[in-house]
Amino acid sequence: MWIGVDDTDSRKGMCTTYLVGDILKELWNYGLELTGYPRLIRLNPNIPWKTRGNGAVALEVGIPNKKLEKIGWMEKNIYRCTAKSDSIDFEKVTEGLKGVIQENAELDAEGTNPGLVVTQKKPPYGVYAKTVKEIVTLKETREILDMVGAHSFGFKNGRGLIGATAAVAWRPYTDKTYELLAYGKNGKISRETIIRMDSCCPSTFDNYDYENRHIQIMPHAPGPVIYGVRGDNEKELKKAMHMLHVPEVQRWFLFETNQGTDDHLQKKKIGDIHPYESVSVTGYVASLPQTITGGHLIFSLEDTEKIDCACYEPTKKFRNVIRSLYPGDKITVYGGIRKHPITLNIEKIQIHELVTIHSKVANPLCPLCKRHMKSIGKNDGYRCRRCGIKTGEEKAKIVKIKRKLRPIFYEVPVVARRHLAKPLKRMQNLS
Ligand code: ATP
Repeated sequence: MWIGVDDTDSRKGMCTTYLVGDILKELWNYGLELTGYPRLIRLNPNIPWKTRGNGAVALEVGIPNKKLEKIGWMEKNIYRCTAKSDSIDFEKVTEGLKGVIQENAELDAEGTNPGLVVTQKKPPYGVYAKTVKEIVTLKETREILDMVGAHSFGFKNGRGLIGATAAVAWRPYTDKTYELLAYGKNGKISRETIIRMDSCCPSTFDNYDYENRHIQIMPHAPGPVIYGVRGDNEKELKKAMHMLHVPEVQRWFLFETNQGTDDHLQKKKIGDIHPYESVSVTGYVASLPQTITGGHLIFSLEDTEKIDCACYEPTKKFRNVIRSLYPGDKITVYGGIRKHPITLNIEKIQIHELVTIHSKVANPLCPLCKRHMKSIGKNDGYRCRRCGIKTGEEKAKIVKIKRKLRPIFYEVPVVARRHLAKPLKRMQNLS
């Protein structure tokens, strides 16, 4: 049996992943336990009505038979179990979980519209694939829920059903990662401890931004999360937890996730791009990057059409990479599409070919008086002011400029990383 929940939090606090604990407690009343890792599924990062990271959760539960590994702690150890039976009173469980959401969700917050899905049959994978890449309507979602015979409940405008359904529909077909999330109050971790953990746990990623001295594993907004460590190896995440050693932790869960997988990206031609999608586009740099107010950079990318690409101030030194691009460079840009004005917000770039750039360092010398001649005009050559002698453009001293970039990937720093963006560290590990 699958349970999906989304949109229970507001900017002021709470976190849908924290609710997993309260859901589990309610499920204990029906003799139900986790039969898989809890899942934290990130959906379309560009939808305008998300609170923060557009995350939803899904749980696979059943009447337990045998305990497998420990995947959490909350009052007692939480195990992933094999299921003995699925003979569950769905209506009773749905009613119980509705109560949990009613009690814990930030229902008074304007943009909070929780959704709860309880189903035996999983919606098709395509439902997830569409929700992570495009905009989905509530009508479409309700049709899918009817199709799979799900029990569901949408609070207020019911929009949370979209994310809850998509989270249940996810399967780790192509790629997956894990995140160990620890909750409690006032937990502190020193920078040194985080750096030590980072170096001892090489399969984790995005723990610390060395360039900007930014701790990424601890949230900078109010809420119950003390830290979240992401990685490819669930065992190493437990090692990371022990190294961080935060006594204030009151519950922790090991989530299976689609974070850091690039699942949101679609390979597109510029002419086929729509607002709110995330794309990878290969083309040529069509204008020199310009700095605009606020320290952001904009340049134009061209295949058969053109689109503006933006690199914002929070991406810090990554802007030096963008600043070093030159018209004619062949690159692939990865990022999300903003609607007004239509712009590609860069997450990473791959450089395929760099144009050769020449620069004139000196005008030619006059063959008679050996003084620098003066340019007559663009492409018209030079004249010596004293002797009146003329010479062609080719005589100027031209040097080849050494390009600062190489034909590799460049990504925004950890501090500016989006949840779904695959870090280069993972791309190297996977290849
Ligand atoms: P987090 O839990 O990380 O803070 P979030 O709070 O940013 O996530 P939500 O509060 O869950 O995001 O709000 C996102 C809302 O958008 C939810 O109601 C969800 O159902 C809905 N939604 C998610 N993906 C799509 C999509 N592709 N199309 C339409 N609606 C979506």
